[in-house]
Amino acid sequence: MARRSREEILKEVERIQEIREKVVAGEEVKRPNCGQTLMFFQKDSGRHPEIFCPNDDLEVLIEYDRLSKED
Ligand SMILES: [Zn+2]
Repeated sequence: MARRSREEILKEVERIQEIREKVVAGEEVKRPNCGQTLMFFQKDSGRHPEIFCPNDDLEVLIEYDRLSKED
């Protein structure tokens, strides 16, 4: 298995951050490879906040701990 270069990994992280910002802002973001609209579990949804593809090919957990204190 080929290791990804540091540049490729940083690019991927950047791409995910962009997707995350759009989805959290309420924008409709479609996955280019499967055409599905990404879904979003809010902080108060009773689940771990995350962005995911209904096709099960993307899942990004969102950590709020650094932004807000939890009781
Ligand atoms: Zn997908």
